[in-house]
Amino acid sequence: MVKVVRKVARKSAATGTMNTAAAEVRASIRTVLASWSGLVAEERHLRPPARDVPALARFLGRHVDWLTRHPAAGDLADEIRELSRRASNVVDPNGVRRVHIGDCPDIDCEGNLVALIRTHGDRLPTEIVCTASDAHTWPATWWTRLARRMRTQGEVR
Ligand SMILES: [Zn+2]
Repeated sequence: MVKVVRKVARKSAATGTMNTAAAEVRASIRTVLASWSGLVAEERHLRPPARDVPALARFLGRHVDWLTRHPAAGDLADEIRELSRRASNVVDPNGVRRVHIGDCPDIDCEGNLVALIRTHGDRLPTEIVCTASDAHTWPATWWTRLARRMRTQGEVR
């Protein structure tokens, strides 16, 4: 009984961390959009929109042409870019997206090739790896050769 309770508690704690990070980004998005909507409303003598993300985003979208000519347009772009980066971090914390690209062209290999695309940070180059063997990796500089080899392999089969 005690064991079960502990298990449940641990699981909800992990979920809580994830939700907290998501909630924080969401709150920041609302704050930033509300602040820029407030600026638009004040300077254009309009009624500010409801303080929820879809309404704020729609409002800013309607005034985007005016905003791009505003002296603070650079700050707006920087803040939106930063929010977008933070939101991506919550959705995809490892920053690696796996894209299936086809069968491994190595002879007798049953593996699939997967492109590892790093969505932020450039610590390691994006590469293509084989699901069956660590030896079958294709760094970005070899992709033309890989494409030729996959094409040739396709013709043989
Ligand atoms: Zn392989």
